Amino acid sequence: MDTADAPLCARCNSVQKTCCQVREIYTTPGDAARIAAFTGRDDFVRMAPPDDPDYLDQEDDPEWYRVFDGEGRRRVLTRKGNGDCTFLGERGCTLPGDVRPLTCRMYPFGYSAVGLEPDAEHMCPTPLLRPGQALLRVLDMHEAEAEGWRAQLYLEICSEPNPPVAPWARGGVSEEAVP
Ligand code: SF4
Repeated sequence: MDTADAPLCARCNSVQKTCCQVREIYTTPGDAARIAAFTGRDDFVRMAPPDDPDYLDQEDDPEWYRVFDGEGRRRVLTRKGNGDCTFLGERGCTLPGDVRPLTCRMYPFGYSAVGLEPDAEHMCPTPLLRPGQALLRVLDMHEAEAEGWRAQLYLEICSEPNPPVAPWARGGVSEEAVP
C-alpha cells in the first residue's frame, strides 16, 4: 500500500514514533483485571513515577491524584526494550478494543473528571491527513462512545487504594516492579 493511502496511524509511524511507542499508559485496576483475564499474563504492569515530573501536578483535575500511590507512582503498562508498549505488535495493538486500557480507547481525546476536552486535534499528526479528511472520522472515533469510556475511567480510578492527595504532599518518588 502506498504510504499516502495507508491508515493515519501507519502514516504517523512512517514519520515518527507513535503514541503506542512513546506514551506511558496508566491502567486502572479494572483494565489490569481485563487484560490479565484475556492474556493470562501477570507481567504487563509496573508501578512507576511519570517520565515528566510535571505530570504530578494535576491541580486542574484533582480526581486524578487517586492514580498515584504515596510515592508518586502509578500503574503503567510495561514496555519492550525498544520502548514500544508490551502489547504493540507488527500490525498494531494486539489487544481487542474492549480489553485495551480505557486511556488507549479514548485517545486522542483529552479529558478530565468533568468531561471530554473539545479539541482532540493536537494529539495526532493532523498535517498527515489528506485534504478534507476529519481526524475523528478517519480514526473511527465517536464522542459519545469516548464519553462513556471517560465516565468508566473515573469510576475505576475510584477503586484505586490511594486517597486523592497530591503526591508531593506525601513524600518522594521512586520506581519498582509490581510484585
Ligand atoms: S495497549 Fe494497545 S493501544 Fe494501548 S499503548 Fe499498548 S499497543 Fe497501543
